[in-house]
Amino acid sequence: MNHPAYGELRPVTESASVLLCHNPGPLTLDGTNTWVLRAPRCDEMVVVDPGPDDAEHIARLAALGRIPLVLISHRHGDHTDGIDALVDATGATVRSVGSGFLRGLGGYLRDGEVIEAAGLRIRVLATPGHTGDSVSFVLDDAVLTADTVLGRGTTVIDDEDGSLADYLDSLRRLRGLGSRIVLPGHGPELPDLAAAAEMYLAHRQERLEQVRRALQVLGDDATPRQVVEHVYADVDEKLWQAAESSVRAQLAYLRRD
Ligand SMILES: [Zn+2]
Repeated sequence: MNHPAYGELRPVTESASVLLCHNPGPLTLDGTNTWVLRAPRCDEMVVVDPGPDDAEHIARLAALGRIPLVLISHRHGDHTDGIDALVDATGATVRSVGSGFLRGLGGYLRDGEVIEAAGLRIRVLATPGHTGDSVSFVLDDAVLTADTVLGRGTTVIDDEDGSLADYLDSLRRLRGLGSRIVLPGHGPELPDLAAAAEMYLAHRQERLEQVRRALQVLGDDATPRQVVEHVYADVDEKLWQAAESSVRAQLAYLRRD
């Protein structure tokens, strides 16, 4: 993979470009991808996810041109903390599923809604699981999957309001969209959404099987931490806290059955 370029708007498809924020980390990979959408020759743009409250990143976004609308993929701070700085700089309306992020009068995002903006038709697809409020945005040739499908590795189920059952359903919905380009919230774009969703589904089934087997060894009342130490031994310890969140979601899923 090429070294990621920070601070430079990089065109990915005819209508989508990415501005990578400089907030790399174990969960953000190279950093947060802020997506800038516009039809060719359109003089305004839609921003998906302002990213963290990073003055340089927000200033670069605001300098791109007219931004009447900002869409939020989900509630996590590495996607949303920059909202107010971007609104201050652009006057944009902000729309989201979750409360707390709306600015202006655009209202909540609804599943199946088609937004016409920046010369594009952007369809909202509810894809809960990573968090309860996660959505994807469907373009003609690509899908913005945020943290539901990442450009590298696999995602975490947030045990606060995420759900593995919802997540598996969301992956099946995304797989049903066929082989479109994946524009993820972190990491590089991928050529084939159906293939990526299939790979994620297989990975989840594999982890579930490992957790089932771990419970046979550790006993049904094993703590999430014990399960992590058993199942995620192959994963960097820096990620164990996040893994614990996923394991809680897996245990909830298995205990529900
Ligand atoms: Zn997230």
